[in-house]
Amino acid sequence: MAMEILEERRTSIKEKGNKGGGCCSGDGLRCDTASVAGSVSQRACVYCGARVVLNPITDAFHIVHGPIGCASYTWDIRGSLTSGSELFRNSFSTDLQEKDIVFGGAEKLTRAIDEAVANYAPKLIFVYATCIVGVIGDDVEAVCRNAEKKHGIRVIAVKAPGFSGTKSTGYRMACNALVQLMEPHKEQPKIKGVNILGDYNLAGEMWIIRNYLREMGIPIVATLTGDAAYETLIKAPAAQLNIVQCAGSMMYLAHRMEDEMGVPWMRASFFGVEDTSTALRQVAERLNDDYAKRKAEALISERGAKAEAFLEQYKPHFVGKKAAIFVGGGFKAISLIRQFNEMGIETVVVGTQTGKPEDYEIISSLVNPGTVILDDANPAELETFMKQKGADILVGGVKERPLAYKLGIAFCDHNHERKHALGGFEGVENFTREVNLSINSPVWQFTRSSASFAEATQAQASLVREALAARAAHF
Ligand code: SF4
Repeated sequence: MAMEILEERRTSIKEKGNKGGGCCSGDGLRCDTASVAGSVSQRACVYCGARVVLNPITDAFHIVHGPIGCASYTWDIRGSLTSGSELFRNSFSTDLQEKDIVFGGAEKLTRAIDEAVANYAPKLIFVYATCIVGVIGDDVEAVCRNAEKKHGIRVIAVKAPGFSGTKSTGYRMACNALVQLMEPHKEQPKIKGVNILGDYNLAGEMWIIRNYLREMGIPIVATLTGDAAYETLIKAPAAQLNIVQCAGSMMYLAHRMEDEMGVPWMRASFFGVEDTSTALRQVAERLNDDYAKRKAEALISERGAKAEAFLEQYKPHFVGKKAAIFVGGGFKAISLIRQFNEMGIETVVVGTQTGKPEDYEIISSLVNPGTVILDDANPAELETFMKQKGADILVGGVKERPLAYKLGIAFCDHNHERKHALGGFEGVENFTREVNLSINSPVWQFTRSSASFAEATQAQASLVREALAARAAHF
């Protein structure tokens, strides 16, 4: 049975080149707004947006002020790596119960902070106020202010009730918390070096970028927030330049740091050969550093060429394949479309949780007519369009994985759960290998190629029968 698109969702879905009719508005995309009530969005909540940005700070103590359920969002599903403290791998919660909801949870929060300081002696604590705290109105900021005075450390409130906006609101809350952390240190003299914003060191990707820049003779002042620590973060205002990778989460911080701390910014993507090469050249150019320019060219001609040669070997396996992309921000979607183009794979469905109008304009310019572009999709829409457009692989995150497998199509995790670095030239090889393994797995012939699930089951049953018969004959 064909799925009906909710009337309120139609303006958030567009088929390139289709000027009207069907499920698509054909005249621009509604995005960067609240989700439609009743439509089960793939988006994470405000609190999750804030936690994505702040959780990778390795020596920070993260207290979730709310019911225990919100605290299930831990390092385990956001695996950023560390070269120092492991404190951030823990998740702490005030575990609010009915009594706290009725009489208030501020006292419990005060006790939780005291206990954390006594047992772990952190330099920095973030307190996340989740939905119920937004409803009962605990004065979390006052508790944090008092705790700062009492313990002489930074205790920063992140007021992020899940219902108070979109995931982008959470990003902004996290950026405000980072500015609050840096504010007392903003008058430092400038030093040679850059900050990297919006890389969360998933599978060690930050280390790849850091190594490139080191080879180019460019020191890193602070990383925000992959593999970050309190002592490096407070030096960030001294940097010459902010290099912004995940623009969706960090552009707000980049603007604030430019206005309030005099640190200019540039955007860069380190996904794919083309984007990584452009990023290295532009960083060297922006710093007007001849040594860095020469080193960037050497890096590109050596490692970029190696990655390209690696990709060339796999291209025959990708002929005729089609991809669907559903990721957090527009920046990553744009990089992925370019990367699939480099691989010879056509993108037929593309969407994001928090893309901005300018992101969708670029996306639209990169894809072929007929491609479905959608913002803040729900699972039913994704399934419908992946089937309709014949996608062979879905690139997404933990929430999209079951959709792909249910439909019997390949999947590649390009979100916080990824286990192989997908950034830089090294990442091109890992991504190519992973896409090939998934898209060309023999398992799909038993699902998609059959007219129905019953046929697929029959085919699988025959194979099992054949294998059992062969085994019986052997003995
Ligand atoms: S929506 Fe509310 S209750 Fe659910 S995880 Fe987010 S903050 Fe917690």
